[in-house]
Amino acid sequence: MEEKKKVVALLSGGLDSRLAVKMMQNQGFDVTAVAIKTPFCDFDCGRGCGFEIRETADMLGVDLKTVYLGDEYIEMLKNPKHGFGSGMNPCIDCRVMMFKAGKQVMENIGADFIISGEVLGQRPMSQHGPALRTIEKESGLEGKIVRPLSGRLLPATQPEVDGLIKREDLGMIRGRTRKEQMRLAKEFGFENPPNAGGGCLLTDPKFAIRAKDLFNHIETPTTNDIDLLKIGRHFRFDQKTKFIVGRNQDENEMLKALALPGDVLFETKDHVGPISLLRGQDIEHNLKLAAAITLRYSDAPKDQQGIVILEKDNTKTEISVLQISEPEYLQYRI
Ligand code: SF4
Repeated sequence: MEEKKKVVALLSGGLDSRLAVKMMQNQGFDVTAVAIKTPFCDFDCGRGCGFEIRETADMLGVDLKTVYLGDEYIEMLKNPKHGFGSGMNPCIDCRVMMFKAGKQVMENIGADFIISGEVLGQRPMSQHGPALRTIEKESGLEGKIVRPLSGRLLPATQPEVDGLIKREDLGMIRGRTRKEQMRLAKEFGFENPPNAGGGCLLTDPKFAIRAKDLFNHIETPTTNDIDLLKIGRHFRFDQKTKFIVGRNQDENEMLKALALPGDVLFETKDHVGPISLLRGQDIEHNLKLAAAITLRYSDAPKDQQGIVILEKDNTKTEISVLQISEPEYLQYRI
């Protein structure tokens, strides 16, 4: 029996990449999926970009390879060659990195080309014609990226020239409407097709503000710094010191788990309240301020002294402070 031709697919949890995979399977290809994880998309945020990736791969019956872009992604984010979208999303540079990772898998398994669920004109930054070409060129995949959903609207790719795929089997979907995708989902028997993905955390305006603050104050943030961005209320005390207050029990536990040597954790002694975390170079100078904000977010009565427990490197101390007023602490809020 003739061996099936191999193709690699960049798979997100979204509908478009599912459809792209199915279109290739229907043309007889053996599809291997590559899911890319970044510090800003951990596959379980529920926002769409990597949501339920394992379930999606199983549903499609494809092999799944996961690639994590960590430090190199953070390095790129300091100064992306093609800039940012409306948040802090460096979509073009990000897609280049993703396709490079896909190319590696493509070469490893001997696939002929790579596909993605990109739709011409769907996303303002990375899915217009020139951006798609830039991504191809910079990832070293010129002519080897097939976008099945919009393929007939794009220049012919190498697999088409080589006769591996027929142009008439590709789609002509353009823009943001999802009508045709929903029709295809029905045709392919996909149950409960996911909503349109919103992009990763970097597209979230509130998250982008925090992320910009971090990158403006730290030369190279760590993944721990980035994980902290995902939880709590954030405050910038000075160039080198920031403060985070948990908003619920889960975040309190996460703050404890993310605390590093040198960080200080705060908790009110006699009232129900948050855990907060102080990190930076001028900790001593900011202890009172941090304690006063922690007390402010607790159930302690207003305008009264309260005791806050400080924990640094497994050593606990106590401090008595007066709650800070709202206008005072809001000046530090990021
Ligand atoms: S939204 Fe943009 S930056 Fe975020 S994962 Fe998608 S392409 Fe990358």
